[in-house]
Order: sequence, then C-alpha cells, then structure tokens
Amino acid sequence: MNYTVLTLFPEIVDAFFATSIMAKAIHRGVIGYRSINIRDFATDKHHKCDDAPYGGGAGMLMLPEPLGRALEYAGAQKKLMQAEAQEAPNRHNKRARVVYLSPSGRLFDQDLARELATEQELILLCGRYEGIDQRIIDSYVDDEISIGDYVLSSGEVGALVLIDATYRLVEGVISAESLEEESFSDGLLEYPQYTRPEIYDMLRVPEVLLSGHHEQIRRWRLRKRVEKTLLVRPDLIAKGLAAGRFSAETRKLIQELQIQSSGGQGAAEFEGDTDERN
Ligand code: SAH
Repeated sequence: MNYTVLTLFPEIVDAFFATSIMAKAIHRGVIGYRSINIRDFATDKHHKCDDAPYGGGAGMLMLPEPLGRALEYAGAQKKLMQAEAQEAPNRHNKRARVVYLSPSGRLFDQDLARELATEQELILLCGRYEGIDQRIIDSYVDDEISIGDYVLSSGEVGALVLIDATYRLVEGVISAESLEEESFSDGLLEYPQYTRPEIYDMLRVPEVLLSGHHEQIRRWRLRKRVEKTLLVRPDLIAKGLAAGRFSAETRKLIQELQIQSSGGQGAAEFEGDTDERN
C-alpha cells in the first residue's frame, strides 16, 4: 500500500509515519508514503492557497488551482466519464483512489477500512478552512469520507485516522492473529484484557483467565464480547444479526443475555464466568 497525503501541513502527518509500527512497516517496504505540500503548487508570490467563497458566507475555501496541480503531481487522474471508462477499462483500473476527508462524506468504519486496505495506492486530500472548491471533488475525488459526525478544523487528523485504521490491515504489518479477535473483526467489541500483576489495587484478574483451560477462556471471552456489545453498542448486534454475521453460539448467547437483562428466567448459567459479577 502506498499513501500519498496532500496537505498544507505535512509536518503533522510526517510524524506519524516516522513512529513505531508504521516506521517499521515503511522500513520493511510493506508501506510506502509521501507527503505533498499543497502550498508548493501555489504560483503567486505569497503562495496563496485560499480565497473567499463565491456567493458569500463565512471563512475561506481552498483554491482549486494549487490543489489540481498538486493532485496531478501526485499522479491522480481526472475521473473518466462513464462512456470513456468503458472504452478504456485498463486506464480506469489503474487510477489511484483519491479520497477527500470531509464531514459530508460517507462514514468511515471497519468495513470501509478493510476495503481501502486492499488498494495499491491511496491519495488523501486534507482540507482546511471551510473546505475545498467543489470542482476538485467533481474532477478528481473518488470517495468523500467522514471519520465521524463532528466537524474538525483539519483534514490531516481525519487522514491519520484513516491511515492508522487501514495500514494495520495490510498483510505483513501486524500478525493475522492480533486482528482476528479485536473489536469489530466479526461484528462484536473486544473482551476485557488483563496483564500482570494478578492483583492490582485489590482487584483480581478473573479466575478463568488463570485456569489455563483454553475452551473455558474462549467461551468467557465470547460471552464478555456479547455482553459489552449489547450494553454499549446494541446497534452492532442488530446489524450483525441482520447480516447473518454471527455463529450459532454467538446468537444463543445474545438470546440468553437479552432474556437475562429483561429479567426473564431460563437463561443457563455460564460455567466459565467466575468474575466479580457472580
Ligand atoms: N465547512 C465544512 C467544514 C470544513 S472543516 C462543513 O461545514 O462541512 C475543514 C476540513 O476539515 C475539511 O475540509 C475536512 O478536510 C476536514 N474535516 C472536518 N471534519 C471532518 C470529518 N468529520 N471527517 C473528515 N474530515 C473532516
């Protein structure tokens, strides 16, 4: 995966690529990265990159010309009209995917992270001020992506969220095992985790985790995942059920825990659950 980030503030993004797991992935050649300073593509003597919006309104907008030149330099190609794309399918396939981070974009989530992680090349466009001229979006941008329902002052923060969530899914960056059981991997949040010491501030690590009994540990963890997801993100449970994403074991647990929380009878006690709740 190669990331190209177009920004007015490369130093924000560069620091992330120079640190920790990302730095190692770059060193090993699994991830490629470059930042491009949009200001370098402003041709006037003040390197102006913004101006007032036509039609009035508050704030400034990023000018299309420096952005267009920076995109072309980055290797972005203009989007093809549908008819053109049919005539030249290969050219279309080879286009790097251009993403503009924007509060009015499609909401970013783990499924989209997985999809983007399969790309060979992503060009990420970071907005500032009130955003960018619509014609850049119309000509170059394949996806407008929002990282959440709030407004940031900078696309760089959004780009870093997208990069952080995607690069770790690229094969060879971290172990497949680490990815398997984490939050969202199969529609559930992660189970609680503990490390040394066994007793911290009078709080004990749940007994089952010390038992060495792999099957009991697995079942305890699954139950904890279902409990937590039901409690804090019932929307994920509903989504997973509708998509047929859960195993029979998970579905049974959901049912049991729902009965329990509604005060109903008949939910079987879980033998491995020996933590403080019992
Ligand atoms: N006037 C715009 C907000 C611009 S905020 C509006 O009301 O929609 C400035 C820049 O921050 C944007 O160009 C975008 O790149 C970035 N940004 C702000 N909120 C974001 C979000 N939720 N997700 C991704 N990028 C965001």
